[in-house]
Order: sequence, then C-alpha cells, then structure tokens
Amino acid sequence: MSVPHTRTEANDRPTRIRVDLDALSHNLRALQRHAGVPVMGIVKANAYGHGLVPVALHLQAQGIAQLGVAFVEEGIALRRAGITVPILVLGGIHAPQVTQFLTHDLEVTVSSIDKLKQVEHAAESIGRKAVIHLKLDTGMERIGVHSEKSAAFIAAAVASPWCIVKGVYSHLACADDPASPMTREQLQRFLAACEHFDRLGAPMPLRHLANSGGVLHFPETCLDMVRPGIALYGVLPDPASQATVVLQPALSLVSKVVYFKVVQAGRTVSYGATWTAAQDTRVITLPIGYGDGYPRSLSSRGEVLVRGGRHPIIGRVCMDQFMVDVGPHGTAYNGDEVVLIGRQGEAAIPCEAVAQAAGTIPYEILTGLNERIPREYSGGHAASIGTPAA
Ligand SMILES: *Cc1c(COP(=O)(O)O)cnc(C)c1O
Repeated sequence: MSVPHTRTEANDRPTRIRVDLDALSHNLRALQRHAGVPVMGIVKANAYGHGLVPVALHLQAQGIAQLGVAFVEEGIALRRAGITVPILVLGGIHAPQVTQFLTHDLEVTVSSIDKLKQVEHAAESIGRKAVIHLKLDTGMERIGVHSEKSAAFIAAAVASPWCIVKGVYSHLACADDPASPMTREQLQRFLAACEHFDRLGAPMPLRHLANSGGVLHFPETCLDMVRPGIALYGVLPDPASQATVVLQPALSLVSKVVYFKVVQAGRTVSYGATWTAAQDTRVITLPIGYGDGYPRSLSSRGEVLVRGGRHPIIGRVCMDQFMVDVGPHGTAYNGDEVVLIGRQGEAAIPCEAVAQAAGTIPYEILTGLNERIPREYSGGHAASIGTPAA
C-alpha cells in the first residue's frame, strides 16, 4: 500500500469529536437490512459533522452502493480523496458548474427542462455523457418538476442523446413523523409520475424516495434505493420518530476541565450576569463554545457529564468557553474528561437531547460542529481505510 492515511486527524486540543466507525458499519447494515434495497449514504455537510472524507472512505470500504452530497464541491473533494463509488449531487445545479460534474464523474440532479438543456449542452461540448437523476417535486415545493406535470420533462430526458437517466427521485417532507398522512400522498404522486417511463417504453430508472424517516417509518417508500443521512450516524430525525431500527450513535463530543473555582453565593457567572449562585458552589470551565458550533442557546439550559454525574451549564455559553456548576460538594480536577454528547459510564447525553435543550433539531447540532474541533476515528479496518489523494 502507499502513504498511510492519518486516521487520527486530531491535534492536542482537549476538545474533540470521536467517531466510532464500527457504529457507522452497524447502522449501514441495519438500515440496509430493514430497507431491503441498496443504500445511498448521505454524507453532505461534512458527513453531518462526522468528517466527509474519513466517513466516505469507511462507507466505501463497507461496500456501500452509492454516496450522496449536496454540492458539487463536496463531490469533488470525495473524488480527490479516492472515492470511486457513484456519487449523486442532490442540490440544484448552476450552469457555470455543470462541466465540473462531468469531469469529476459526478451524477447530476436534473430538476427542470431548462437544467436538462444546460447539462446536455455541457455534455455535448466536452463529448462525455452525463449520468443524471430526475428530480420530481411531490410536496416539498423545493427543487424539482411538479410530478403531475412531469410527462414532457421525463420524455425530454429519456430522448436526450447526451444524458443517461440513471435515477428518478423525490424528497419526503414529513417522513420523520410516522403519523403524517403526507408521506403516502407523496409516494402516490411519485409512483404515478414514474408510469411515464412505461408509457414511453423506456427502462425504469432507479426510483428513490426515502430519507431516514422514510426508511424508519414507511417501508413502502424504500422502492429501489434509499437515501438515509441522519440515521446512518445513529441519530433519530425527530422526537416523534420511532426507533424501528436499532441504531448506534457514531459521534461523541468531549472536552476537558481547564479550570476549577469556588463561586461565592450572590456572584454571577458569564456575560450578561444572567446566572447567580444561590449558595457557594464549585464551577468548572470548559474550553469549547459557540465558535466551535456548540450552541449558545444551551446557555443555562444544557448539561454535561463529569465524573459520571450530570451537571448544568450555567450562564451564557461564550465563544470559546462555558461554565458548569458541579455543586457545593462536587469534585472535578483540571484535565478531567467531560462529555457533551455521548456516554460516560452509565450516563448518556444523546444528540437528540442536546437538540431539544437548544430548541433545534439534531441535524443542526451535528452539522454545526465545525472544523475547529479535531476529529478522531476508532474502529473500522485500518487496511481498508484507503489512501488520500496526492
Ligand atoms: C439530506 C437529504 C437526505 C437525507 O436526509 P436524512 O433526513 O438525514 O435521512 C436524503 N435526500 C435528500 C434529497 C436530502 O437532501
């Protein structure tokens, strides 16, 4: 083999994200078994904060059928890192970028007749056919041709000499909620539009519709391929979601105590003096803040695990630090590990709980954790974690 891949991208910063690659493998297999069809693993937004390239390399080594990203830049980064499996770019295309899809062997989402023409033009001009997935709108009112008016769009794509129609897809708006009637309506609209391929005597492309919520709650939406994102990382999309598949959270966020002090009764903590000590109490400082993507909305609302106990964040979360009350009798020492997301002994703070305390969804918590935090990978097969591109 060639250059060893730096599997530990971490520096010495005490704050870090730990990614358990074996949890990813487990979730991939569990979702695939549950869906009964191949998986397009969604790795957009830095693989939901888990690290785009290491996650993609691992999923590829696990034999994943296909990957999906949001933007062409993410697809190019994956190709440069040695990813060879098919990659679909899910987002809407910008005309000046279309050639880049073709030169990097990225599959294109075509979401209108106009965009089809742009892709044909680019493909013809460089003499290379485009592999495309047609995007139908069945209820999101985001990108895509309204499914009930898609006959001409589908006919034009099928007839195009410069496009290979590999897939047709749509996106579910309410699949997080098992009780929503919207998903079945969207499925019906989607299947009705797919009949145009039969009418045209064209081969049926890969039909894909299900995101994580679809896979978890609506097996009938799984069709020919599924597109789970958040569930692949072991996190449920929404508090209403049901854990119909046993998932393992892949990400932990940890830090270490950097300061310990006693705060006297009546003193206030952090910016704005929003929190006042009711009694003398012991307070630790952690070296992570909203500048890392740890939400400021957790000010006096979030919790962390220290020495196996659960303790509240007090006062405002700062850009680079925040404070935690370990209580009048609590102990903690500089250098003690603190868990912000994940498990410590018997106790756990799942990403879902952090999201709820912050008044948002797990997606925003995960994708918000930014590049300032080093990421550390465990599990997986060292030999199959490939080599970085030169
Ligand atoms: C982000 C995305 C997904 C994955 O959604 P999850 O809810 O994370 O499973 C699937 N399909 C499309 C088109 C997306 O944009």
